[in-house]
Amino acid sequence: MSADSKPRVLILGGGFAGIGAAQKLKKADAQVVLVDRHDYHTFQPLLYQLATALLDTSAVGHSLRDLLSDHERAMVHQAGVQAIDLENRTVTFDEISPISYDYLVFGLGAQVNFFGTAGAPEHAFPMYTLPDAVQLKDHILERWEAADRDPSLIEDGVLNVVIVGGGPTGVETAGAIAELYRGDFDKDYPGVKSEDAKITLVEAGPELFGMFKPNLREYAAKALTDRGVEVKTGMAVSSVEPTRVTLKSGEELKAHTLVWGAGLQGNPVVQSLGIELQRGNRIGVGPDLTLPDHPEVYVVGDIAAITDAENEQVLPQLGSVALQSGEHAGGSIARRIAGETSKPFKYKDKGTMATIGRGAAVVQFLRGKTMTGAKAQVAWGTVHLALLPTNEDRAKAVVSWAGAAFTHQRVGRITVGAD
Ligand SMILES: Cc1cc2nc3c(=O)[nH]c(=O)nc-3n(C[C@H](O)[C@H](O)[C@H](O)COP(=O)(O)OP(=O)(O)OC[C@H]3O[C@@H](n4cnc5c(N)ncnc54)[C@H](O)[C@@H]3O)c2cc1C
Repeated sequence: MSADSKPRVLILGGGFAGIGAAQKLKKADAQVVLVDRHDYHTFQPLLYQLATALLDTSAVGHSLRDLLSDHERAMVHQAGVQAIDLENRTVTFDEISPISYDYLVFGLGAQVNFFGTAGAPEHAFPMYTLPDAVQLKDHILERWEAADRDPSLIEDGVLNVVIVGGGPTGVETAGAIAELYRGDFDKDYPGVKSEDAKITLVEAGPELFGMFKPNLREYAAKALTDRGVEVKTGMAVSSVEPTRVTLKSGEELKAHTLVWGAGLQGNPVVQSLGIELQRGNRIGVGPDLTLPDHPEVYVVGDIAAITDAENEQVLPQLGSVALQSGEHAGGSIARRIAGETSKPFKYKDKGTMATIGRGAAVVQFLRGKTMTGAKAQVAWGTVHLALLPTNEDRAKAVVSWAGAAFTHQRVGRITVGAD
């Protein structure tokens, strides 16, 4: 037990998983310490809406201190996690002294994987953090202003965007950029023909949405094509320069913007555990989400490889899996502190889903049922509103979505850089 008489629960990461755990520890007789390198929770599923000016920063990032303000025994520190010492039950950080724990909730999430593509770390725009989304939005706006000042740049691809990855992140971003370009920018920049701006989605596999059923794959490809996106499947990017993207086939695409939505890898802190990792650097956990031989360590969210109790498949890296696994860990620790036993984790499937644009979305449930179109978009909205951390955030999102639906306007079309 730690110096304080109450057991200390250390939560690493204030994403869906970490916040879920903290919420379930509200009534536990424990001191709760949450550490994140940011002072905010990032709502990743809406990053593409921030990047395409539909939502503003405060609708996608929420202060962690505010989220835990009604949690009497919780403390928040902003610091980067360096390493976890499982034997000594201690975590080291970049900016603060080491913290020991009685229980650890490890929820540091995943990070972008450029798969060694030359030039991608320097020149691609990933879509994983709040700064990523803001930088992409500012860059796109800045490129359109450049084209407005000097239309001869259009021939050089100043407005062209290549999006890498035919999964939900790539498809959602491509659809949203297409609506921004063909809708708002068409009016904003009367001197520029929006059809001169090429939007290309590149996917290495044979089809978009490899994780979805064939009817949803076809639906997504058609919805994107209808919105003026060129879909190139079976092609991979070999190198990226500031104004050019080269494919493995040798084809060179003129594009001043490359959005990377192609791959994830486990957080590098996992290496400090000295354990064998699973595919994508994820950590295998037992049925109760604890680390083998370490019942005091819960691994949750994107960083965990959680096997579904019913179908023996590893659950996907989704917000609802992260939230439910975090809640399970927090609830289990609270029960154990109260002298009760912990239970195995059971995932309640909310469906895997993605929106492609206004009125176009897909949903697939673990048992195979699928939905498309407006119905799927309503399901997407319902599930994502439920995932948002507060009612205030839900209200902000509803106002922005409703505004965009009625006026077709994206209000965040401004850049606020240094003067
Ligand atoms: C662009 C995008 C779109 C998505 N769309 C959807 C969707 O539509 N629906 C859906 O269900 N899921 C979606 N997902 C997946 C979903 O967002 C993730 O599954 C979920 O965020 C995982 O939650 P987590 O708590 O495990 O990790 P995260 O949300 O990544 O949180 C991890 C936290 O750890 C912190 N952290 C990381 N490293 C350190 C360190 N070294 N030190 C200190 N702090 C650190 C981070 O700052 C972060 O706050 C999307 C993901 C992305 C990237």
